[in-house]
Formats: sequence, structure tokens, C-alpha cells
Amino acid sequence: MKTVTILGATGSVGTSTLDLIERAPEDFRVVALTANCDVARLAAAAIRTRAELAVVADEACLPALRDALRGTGIRASGGAKAVETAAESGADWTMGAIVGCAGLGPTMRAVATGGTVVLANKEPLVSAGDLILAAAKASGATLLPADSEHNAIFQCLDAARPEGIRRIILTASGGPFRTWSLERMRDVTPAQAVAHPNWSMGAKISVDSATLMNKGLELIEAARLFPVPHAAIEIVVHPQSVVHSLVDHIDGSMLAQLGPSDMRVPIAHCLAYPERMATPMQPLDLVAIGRLDFETPDPIRFPALRLAREALDAGGARPAILNAANEVAVAAFLANRIGFLEIAAIVADTLDRYDPPAPATLDDVLAVDAEARRQATERVKDRVV
Ligand code: NDP
Repeated sequence: MKTVTILGATGSVGTSTLDLIERAPEDFRVVALTANCDVARLAAAAIRTRAELAVVADEACLPALRDALRGTGIRASGGAKAVETAAESGADWTMGAIVGCAGLGPTMRAVATGGTVVLANKEPLVSAGDLILAAAKASGATLLPADSEHNAIFQCLDAARPEGIRRIILTASGGPFRTWSLERMRDVTPAQAVAHPNWSMGAKISVDSATLMNKGLELIEAARLFPVPHAAIEIVVHPQSVVHSLVDHIDGSMLAQLGPSDMRVPIAHCLAYPERMATPMQPLDLVAIGRLDFETPDPIRFPALRLAREALDAGGARPAILNAANEVAVAAFLANRIGFLEIAAIVADTLDRYDPPAPATLDDVLAVDAEARRQATERVKDRVV
């Protein structure tokens, strides 16, 4: 039996993880579940799974959590530090599914504690990838990628023989505006942006998928996780989201992982690794799918891709600035404060004006993140529609 902690248990990835765990109660025991403030969902999941501990990051939500758990014997705690403590619960398997850089501290704590840490939460890897990898090396933690593309690459790539790899190809659905003109994209609403054609996900990553910033963050994530030069990571638009990514080898063999567009597939791979576990998903019907299309992404309509590649190549603080400014701009767009095309513009502006030295410690990264957020927030104020 594996002990499990889920950071971000009430979100899209967290809920998919719980679904798999609850289908195999003899294989998993839940130690801790965390959320920001969705008390109803958190308490219900904690009671169903008989978790030991439930944590809300927002301390103001702790009294409601205590009320909801009264008489159950499940401990409740609150605040950002309490989430970090839950991350250090010493579970065999920890899912990092908090959204944004809010997951950085908890991810670092989980990695430093050891065990298996599953990375869905990509923003910490973008902002502080080197520190997370160094912490894993020091603690002996096993890092497994749950992001469908990186999980696909992980399944296809022999990391012990990097000399045999020619390139990694990350596939992108292209999002809901793949075929829209720039003129039409100007008036995109939050509701349109979160309606992803193939995947059901949280609001932030859905907007990132629509701007293709998600693929930019994934480019940086792939560079952190896999032993290939930056230039050997390519992005191809694949609207059907059936091929989740590919590894091309020097002998001409290209290996791909295919599967349904459901996060339970890569999460199940991480839950059972190195074994396999059954999932409720129907196998792909290749004849019904019929065809697979691939296109080059359009750099004019989707400038986020270029911004991310430049940040990756420049290194230092650039990826952390890119990520922080994007989080601010996406939140402003979702709150109807700026237009869709202004998301990438605010990220570009922030990168243009802020150029601190490379961060060396977690505190340095957090300081860069905070200052980039402050500057991006100023840019949002300048641009309010
Ligand atoms: P959601 O928005 O659906 O869920 C986010 C989770 O994080 C919720 O449990 C939320 O709690 C919690 N949370 C939010 N803010 C904080 C905070 N400040 N401190 C602690 N916890 C917080 O996100 P997703 O599940 O879509 O995505 C999670 C991560 O996984 C992201 O980094 C995303 O990029 C990545 N990812 C997601 C995929 C998907 O299919 N959704 C696919 C691949 C990667 P509450 O509910 O209380 O607000």
C-alpha cells in the first residue's frame, strides 16, 4: 500500500488523482490533502478517503474547515506554512497540483523530504527548476512528470543514452483560437478562452493553452527535465491531442506516446510507476480517429512561444519573470481587466524592463517573482480596458 499526499486536491488534476486513488482503496492510503479555500470539496474528499490531515492555504478558511471536519478525527490546519508542512508529510507519493508559483515552497519541501514527487504544477519548475533538481539529487527523491507531454516523453526517452536522441517534439493542441485571425482574437472573452477543445482543466492553464504560453512553459519544463539541448526541443501543433509528444532518435526511429485526452492516463502512469495500473478510460479507437494532423505554430498570433524560448535561452531570472508576469496577466484577463492579446504584451513589457541578476537561492527566486508581479501589476493598471 502506498501512502499519498495531494497538494491542490480540489483542482482539476487533484480531482483526477483522487478519482484513481478512490478506485483502488486497497492500494493507497491518503495522508494529507490540501486546497486554497474550497472547504466543501476538500472536506468531502478528506472524509471519503479517510485522510489524516486536510489543509487550506487561506487561513481565513480554516474555521469553516474545522466545522466541516468536526467529529471525523481528521486533523485540520491552515496557512501557507501548513501547506508546506503537509508537503513534508513523508508520504511515499506526493502529487504537486497547486496552480502557479504558489506551489514552489510546497514542491521544494516535498522534494527535500524524498519519496516520489509528481510534478503537474509546472510553474515552480519554470521559475526554480535548477533548485528543485538539486534538492531531488540531495534527498534522493524521484521526480515524475504528470504533464501529459512530459509524461509521454518520459515514457519514450532513454535518459541514460542521451547521445541517441536527435530531438524532442512537444505537441500542442493549438487551443481554441488555433484558426482565428489576430483581429478576432482581440475580442476573446474569458469564457471563450477557458473552453478548451480537447482537455478539461483549471482556468489558468486553459488560458495558457489558448495563448500557447502553456506550451512555452512546457518548453522550459522539458529543458529542465530532459538531457537535450534547448534547440533540440521543438513544438508542433497537433489539433487532435492524441499524440502527446515524441522523441526522435539519430537512427530515424521516432517514438510517440498516444492516449485519450484525460489526465488520468499520465497520472495513473505516475501512481503505479514503474508498474502499470488499470484506468476507466476506453482504449483509443484509431480507426474512428482516422487521421492525425500536425502544423507549425504561428509565431505572429502566438508570441508567447517566442517569449518563452528567449527566456529559456537567456536563463538566469528570465523564466521566473516570464512566469510571474504571465500569472498576473492571466488573472487580470480572467477578471476582465485586460484584453486577451495583452497577456503576452504585459509579459513582454515586464521582461523588457526588469533584468535582475540570476537567482541563486529559493529566496532569490521568490524575490524576483514578487518584483516581477509588482511590475506586471503596474503594467496591468496602465492597460485597463
Ligand atoms: P486548478 O485551478 O483546477 O486547481 C488548483 C489547485 O490549487 C486547487 O486545489 C486550489 O485550491 C489550489 N490552490 C490555488 N491557489 C493556491 C494557493 N495560493 N496555495 C495553495 N493552493 C492553492 O488547477 P489545475 O488542476 O488545472 O492545474 C494545477 C497545476 O497542474 C497547474 O500548475 C497546471 O499548469 C498543471 N497542469 C494541469 C493540467 C490539467 O489538466 N488541469 C495538465 C497539466 C498540468 P482551491 O480549489 O481551494 O482554490
